Amino acid sequence: MGTLTGETDEPSAPVAEAPAVPAPAAEARALPGGRPASLSPSRAADFMQCPLLYRFRVIDRLPEKPSPAATRGTVVHAVLERLFDAPAAQRTADRARELVPGEWQRLLAARPELAELFAREDGGQDAERLAQWLADAERLVERWFTLEDPTRLEPAERELFVETVLDSGLTLRGYIDRVDVAPSGEVRLVDYKTGKAPAPQYASGALFQMKFYALVVWRLRGVVPRRLQLVYLGSGDVLTYDPVEADLLAVERKLHALWEAISLATETGDWRPRPTKLCGWCDHQAHCPEFGGTPPPYPLHLAPPAPRQAPPEESGG
Ligand code: SF4
Repeated sequence: MGTLTGETDEPSAPVAEAPAVPAPAAEARALPGGRPASLSPSRAADFMQCPLLYRFRVIDRLPEKPSPAATRGTVVHAVLERLFDAPAAQRTADRARELVPGEWQRLLAARPELAELFAREDGGQDAERLAQWLADAERLVERWFTLEDPTRLEPAERELFVETVLDSGLTLRGYIDRVDVAPSGEVRLVDYKTGKAPAPQYASGALFQMKFYALVVWRLRGVVPRRLQLVYLGSGDVLTYDPVEADLLAVERKLHALWEAISLATETGDWRPRPTKLCGWCDHQAHCPEFGGTPPPYPLHLAPPAPRQAPPEESGG
């Protein structure tokens, strides 16, 4: 699929960036039970990792501190998206590196709270730490050029928001970093990761997100994407998978099973913690019984045994 490129050289319209963390609180609590509920790959992964983490993020909407790594990921994604605004011949590594500070400033203007990432105790800015962080982002951007050649790519879509409603009523949504369409009509879905590629035994977890997107695209366009591609800028690896219908039907079944489990937990208020080594990255240990904490009062009405209460809709990403 190395020759798979878009048939148009018209840049697609920029689309809003996927939120790094769940969107602000009020939305979820205001949802009436009958409103169509949704799943994104991120939140599905949250529930699979730890049901209590899902509750904290989707139902309680507990705030989370911005992290340098996640914020750097947002900046790098923005650079890789914006680079395609330039004519093919100008999509060079130098140009991409030059975009990094500007994309950081743009993000900071939209989310001023991110300034705290580089704040000194005296209230000033830690210029050295910021410079190091920007240099790391530039290195990640530069590595992309060893993995793909943007002068030979014309994405059909960038940061594409997709959403579909399954026959069951479950809404699936998310953002796809890049969609390439070959002259033959074959579709490739691409996702950039600023971390390292997983060990082979964990590759299926990484591909779950891509199969999720493939299912949504299949339902929307009636075409199974030819290739799913994960580009790991942290380690310089590319992971690909060519799905078939059976893969996507299996993902659909899995999502429905997840949906059932989330619905049951929503109805009963029984959100179990599932401690793993990933707890080290969790912002909610102070509320987690596994770490001696107490969850906040459950914000949803716990109905007596009765018709099932639909889980709240959550933001895409
Ligand atoms: S600390 Fe671990 S077990 Fe507790 S909510 Fe977070 S991920 Fe779940």
